[in-house]
Amino acid sequence: MFSEEFSEALLFWYDQAQRKLPWRLKVSNPYYTWLSEIMLQQTTVSTVIPYFQTFVQKWPTITALANASLQDILVAWQGLGYYSRARNLHAAAQALALSDAFPRTEEALRKLPGIGPYTAAAIASIAFGQRAAAVDGNVVRVMSRFFALETPQPIEEVRERLQALLPHARCGDFTQALMELGALVCRVKNPQCTICPLRHRCAAYALGKAENFPVKIPKAKIPTRTTTAFVIRRAIDGAVLLRRRPLKGLLGGMMEVPSTPWEERREPHEITGVRVRHTFTHFHLEIDVRMRTPSPWEEEDERTGIWVKPQDLKDHPLPTVIKKILKAGFSGKL
Ligand code: SF4
Repeated sequence: MFSEEFSEALLFWYDQAQRKLPWRLKVSNPYYTWLSEIMLQQTTVSTVIPYFQTFVQKWPTITALANASLQDILVAWQGLGYYSRARNLHAAAQALALSDAFPRTEEALRKLPGIGPYTAAAIASIAFGQRAAAVDGNVVRVMSRFFALETPQPIEEVRERLQALLPHARCGDFTQALMELGALVCRVKNPQCTICPLRHRCAAYALGKAENFPVKIPKAKIPTRTTTAFVIRRAIDGAVLLRRRPLKGLLGGMMEVPSTPWEERREPHEITGVRVRHTFTHFHLEIDVRMRTPSPWEEEDERTGIWVKPQDLKDHPLPTVIKKILKAGFSGKL
């Protein structure tokens, strides 16, 4: 049968070629699977590995993670981006610590904060061996090529086709194998078709057009927002003024320096300090960084924020954009 041939070829390849990754254990551990899947969203494996190791060293169990402070988790997450993932991770750990067992089905997993359809299917499949179709970017690419799908972003079509291919045994390995094939062989650029275990049945390979799939949709241009950010330092000890961003929304709960609203403007943005640029998923931010000393009320009024000495900045959750601003404000001495 076609589906058996597909999974046999894929699993045979996976048994020889899979990478050793710290979350791939002989006996599955749902905590490791969940943590790695959350970290791997929008992030590469090589970036995730040291973060994953730090997390499981600091918080070896879900209960330990639930008992950690959000501040400590955000500090450990610094540089990984998409900070709502860290906040949801903490909230989900607290919910899990109160429940009897880790949920095993896609439906139950989706009730946890930060777990969408892909992550639920990935955990159900990898940690519990369920026949769940986990469709991430790698899987979309492999399947779009294998079936030469003409639709851009064919997530539903891929899910249906994948569901029909899922084996009755080793489902978790099958899911990981397909993702691994996308990462190592059926790569975005220069797919290695000649060593691919699926090449004999691959439609894109037969057409000689692997790189034409998945069909692309033209990228929308993202807008540029501007702001003026203030690096305010006390003369007495060089401490810098930081404040916490609201918990909800972009970079929620992270620390920042005071700045004007981040907005698109019609008039040109005049830069009188140091120019810094940062790109988020949906917009570019052009920042005019200005340095100054505090006014007397800023030094005295606790509502303004907290004063942090340069050597203590590492203990506070600072997103990359704020690190760039501080670096510019400290003239590269951060
Ligand atoms: S043969 Fe090429 S295009 Fe087809 S699945 Fe393999 S690597 Fe991807």
